[in-house]
Amino acid sequence: MENCLFCKIIAGEIPSTKVYEDEYVFAFRDINPQAPVHILVVPKVHLDSADQITEENAVHVAKCFEAIARIAKAEGLTNGYRVINNCGADGGQTVMHLHFHIIGGVKLSEKIV
Ligand code: 5GP
Ligand code: ZN
Repeated sequence: MENCLFCKIIAGEIPSTKVYEDEYVFAFRDINPQAPVHILVVPKVHLDSADQITEENAVHVAKCFEAIARIAKAEGLTNGYRVINNCGADGGQTVMHLHFHIIGGVKLSEKIV
């Protein structure tokens, strides 16, 4: 999609630190990490947010989660990690291309959810 930051990153038009890519998924390090490991996992198809997930496109989400498990192992997150999706304005989403944050490498606060 035109003018979507993450579509441009997937296309290589904007540089990123890629950690994983397959037919369905692209993953790269967050530019403003909130923990020692902070990776963004995005479907290659453009969906604005989790609110657009349907039975027809859910395979793209499943592929993100397969990638998340694989990336977590590759990053050595053997003791756990958190997967976060911010959805929409009230959910704190700032980039309107569906993405999942992998946050880890440290013991996280138990106060959020
Ligand atoms: P959101 O707030 O939408 O859930 O998350 C967007 C994330 O994208 C933020 O954590 C932000 O740091 C990250 N981000 C924004 N612009 C860029 C960029 O140009 N490159 C990378 N690697 N991350 C970005
Ligand atoms: Zn996009």
